[in-house]
Amino acid sequence: MPVLPIHNGANTPENLPLGKLIVLTGPSGVGKGTLMQTLLQRHPELYYSVSVTTRSPRTGEINGKNYDFTSRSQFEQLVAQGEFLEWAEFAGNYYGTPRAAVLEHIQSGTLVVLEIELEGARQIRASYPNALSIFILPPSFSELEKRIRGRGQDSEEAIARRLGRALEEIQAADEFDIQIVNDDFETALHEIETILFT
Ligand code: ADP
Ligand code: 5GP
Repeated sequence: MPVLPIHNGANTPENLPLGKLIVLTGPSGVGKGTLMQTLLQRHPELYYSVSVTTRSPRTGEINGKNYDFTSRSQFEQLVAQGEFLEWAEFAGNYYGTPRAAVLEHIQSGTLVVLEIELEGARQIRASYPNALSIFILPPSFSELEKRIRGRGQDSEEAIARRLGRALEEIQAADEFDIQIVNDDFETALHEIETILFT
């Protein structure tokens, strides 16, 4: 079993056995969740890692499917126990990837996809340099704002935090192996499918 990170920061690079690890990142509202959902419907053989978060569920979100929703104290306990492959604080909430399930799937040869924010993606890249990282860009910043508002699920405060963070994230897009603009949904999805399956 490789030595794995339990905190934000520098990690020991590790090679990935067998399966591939794909990291999907992009600003809030760019369409990552919608892309992932369609991708999973079309390719049920993929393993999507369900993250743990301290954020409150949005309308329609299901515990155990969209996220494992938990308290801050429980999350901090999981961090202390080394249960996360990576974790980060985003817009006032914690998010983390449970490491055991991800490693088991990679070791059994499965294509594993993580949909995570920038800091977590950096941790994964440091630990697993042969993971493939994809950054999803919006066609414009105004379109991004329109999508976040159109989703109708975030408070004004949450929207402001997410848009502020979006600028920082977009500036880091070049760090990723591949950049995809989610303008036309089907085109973006097809680009991801091509990367994953060819
Ligand atoms: P994220 O998971 O990146 O925060 P979501 O998947 O929740 O983003 O998408 C935010 C909103 O944008 C949703 O209402 C979704 O339907 C919409 N959306 C996603 N992709 C596109 C697209 N290519 N064109 C227009 N709207 C889109
Ligand atoms: P949201 O609250 O909109 O669902 O997610 C906010 C941000 O957290 C998104 O950029 C999403 O990709 C990211 N995120 C979701 N799960 C994880 C995780 O396990 N780790 C990290 N680092 N980010 C995550």
